Amino acid sequence: MNFGSKNILVSSLQPGFINDTVLKNCPVCYQSKLKFLFKKSTNPLFVSKKSDLKLYKIFKCTDCGFVFVNPRPSKEQLNDFYKGQKVFFIGAGEEELKNYLCNKEKLKENYLPRIKMLEKFTSGRKLIEIGSAGGLFLDVAQTRGWDVLGVEPSVWGVKNSSKHLGVKTILGTVEDVKLPPSSFDVIAFYDVIEHLRNPEDAFRLSSRVLKNTGVIAITLPNADSIWAKLGKQQWSMYSLPEHLNYFSAKNLSIVLKRNGFEVIGTRTGSQPGFYAFKSLMSYFLKPYLNEVISGKTCGKSNNKQIISDASVTENESSIKSCINLLLNPIFDIANKLNLGEGLEIYARKVK
Ligand SMILES: [Zn+2]
Repeated sequence: MNFGSKNILVSSLQPGFINDTVLKNCPVCYQSKLKFLFKKSTNPLFVSKKSDLKLYKIFKCTDCGFVFVNPRPSKEQLNDFYKGQKVFFIGAGEEELKNYLCNKEKLKENYLPRIKMLEKFTSGRKLIEIGSAGGLFLDVAQTRGWDVLGVEPSVWGVKNSSKHLGVKTILGTVEDVKLPPSSFDVIAFYDVIEHLRNPEDAFRLSSRVLKNTGVIAITLPNADSIWAKLGKQQWSMYSLPEHLNYFSAKNLSIVLKRNGFEVIGTRTGSQPGFYAFKSLMSYFLKPYLNEVISGKTCGKSNNKQIISDASVTENESSIKSCINLLLNPIFDIANKLNLGEGLEIYARKVK
């Protein structure tokens, strides 16, 4: 599909979320000095026709720098959105499950460093992941001796985890899951908190279910990244309405501290140069690039393939090598300066 923002009269779009859920205060530091940044339309990936596009407002707290969508969605609005999505969310079905499984070896390879990092922070081996998708991360943990539990709102995710991988998984969300208190050594939120209507739910739940000195592990888009700074409103992580919260390490630590956590590790990462390049190019040249270098999954062309997906086709390989050679050293420097696109943060429960 191609009806990027250049072809849309943005002012003609309907607002995305109803106005009675406007936040007057920053949900991170509670201060009231909020600055309107810009309006942005629905990510075209999530709609099939122009008339379904809506417009969302992005604000920034002038005290702590937290960037967020405002007005906020109601629980029902958010559920309706995710249920309608077949990419990898609640509406996903058999085809999405096959694509996920097709990439499983690559995904598992990416998850191993995360497990090893957790093993540095705790000797405990009881792990819960909220938003566990198809269960591959927990599968990797399980094979290393961890006792794991997944919580996942999509039926396909629960089905894959439980039936194909043997990973115990509960159907639920951070808002409604029922868990025993003080029972886990680690709680993980990988690429989840940016989606939450009320991100503080995640920290309250963590504080309750972790044992004393338990660890919370988080990955999310880095609002302080060089990509966010250079891209401004074109930054690809401003993907609406899925991403509602844009944290930096600094303001994430404010909300962690308030909920009884102390930050014990922070690092940033960027996807390899080729994927970043592809992402950038696809923004400008989407229809052409989709045909030339993008999105083959399990041997089948798929225009809705997520750019950051780990799949690589034969056509891509030589282009990929050259671009990686040029761009990866630059990204390595950005990561060392904590300016990478993805933020990974670990915090220990201290009270
Ligand atoms: Zn704030």
